Amino acid sequence: MNKFAFVDCKTVDQALGQLGDGAVIKAGGIDLLDLMKEDIISPPKLVNIRNIDTLRGITVSTDGLHLGPLVTLSEIADHPEIRRSYSALSDAAGHAATPQIRNMATLGGNIMQRPRCWYFRSSDFDCKKKGGSSNECHAHNGENQYHAILNNSTCAMVHPSSTAVPLLGMNAQVELTSKRGKRMVAMSDFYVPPEKDVVNETVVQPGELITRIFVPVPAQGTRSAYQKYGEKESFDWPIADAGVVLVMDGTVCRKAVIVLGVAAPTPIRSKAAEDVLTGKTIDEPVARAAGKAAMQSATPLSQNGYKTQLFQTAIYRTVLLAAGQMQRDPSAIG
Ligand SMILES: Cc1cc2nc3c(=O)[nH]c(=O)nc-3n(C[C@H](O)[C@H](O)[C@H](O)COP(=O)(O)OP(=O)(O)OC[C@H]3O[C@@H](n4cnc5c(N)ncnc54)[C@H](O)[C@@H]3O)c2cc1C
Repeated sequence: MNKFAFVDCKTVDQALGQLGDGAVIKAGGIDLLDLMKEDIISPPKLVNIRNIDTLRGITVSTDGLHLGPLVTLSEIADHPEIRRSYSALSDAAGHAATPQIRNMATLGGNIMQRPRCWYFRSSDFDCKKKGGSSNECHAHNGENQYHAILNNSTCAMVHPSSTAVPLLGMNAQVELTSKRGKRMVAMSDFYVPPEKDVVNETVVQPGELITRIFVPVPAQGTRSAYQKYGEKESFDWPIADAGVVLVMDGTVCRKAVIVLGVAAPTPIRSKAAEDVLTGKTIDEPVARAAGKAAMQSATPLSQNGYKTQLFQTAIYRTVLLAAGQMQRDPSAIG
């Protein structure tokens, strides 16, 4: 690891003043320090935002939920109002990683973490995501068992953030602050597909800091759930995860949002699955049909065909869980 400067900031203005010339924001530091230790990045300066008090805190107000980017995954998982009214978000935060990591990991850092693709994470590979000259995604003809099964033709990495899944399903917005002012970005516009920008995963520009995440108050009758499936029972990233937000009128679904986590290079909604549920009474066959519809456009690689079946199961069970027709699936992990 190369030498770097470390600047501990106490205010947002102080942090903004330190950004530029390759300086990198550090929150919990879990992903950032991994990348530095793996020699994937060598920033000259770390701007520590961990001690900026105004970036902490969870506020429940009449318009929705206001989350500081330094709120930890544990705080989200344990918050009574988030558990009650934004269940998919507390489920996602509460089943990510390990208790120790959840105590340290921040929401801002979680949605900004970099892909886990081993070709990206290994300094031995000239991956185009790292600005390398290789035109081919190494996963296409390589070891691709954990890679994308949808939208994978340019780059087959998957975005690993669990909390991004419910945040997209709940129409959350991210506030970005820079020296030029503030802007709000909808979660649906936050992640950038590799076809548009193969190097950066988000619209966050150099010099911008996430200063708030806003989740609008759910419509009456909203129920939500999130489930994660993985190779190991804990301590692991998902290999399939689904977030489901339903607006229910009794047993009939008036509106459905279905988001798939590690299926594609960005968290994505499945319109095909949502259409299956809308206007229907939710039961087992309808939930299974939604899972099947979501996977109709899948283009699995040589070693990850199993993920299409896993996603069908994840969607089917998460729909039933959200509709209140199933208890949490014991085979889901976390
Ligand atoms: C064993 C293990 C299992 C894991 N399992 C999961 C899992 O199941 N699900 C999951 O989602 N994650 C999982 N993780 C990843 C972990 O949750 C993330 O690394 C963590 O959430 C990152 O948060 P952080 O605060 O440490 O971010 P940092 O490492 O500090 O930052 C990460 C990135 O975000 C940027 N950043 C941070 N805050 C801001 C901000 N306010 N504005 C702009 N940019 C910012 C940083 O510059 C950096 O690029 C796992 C990690 C481990 C080690």
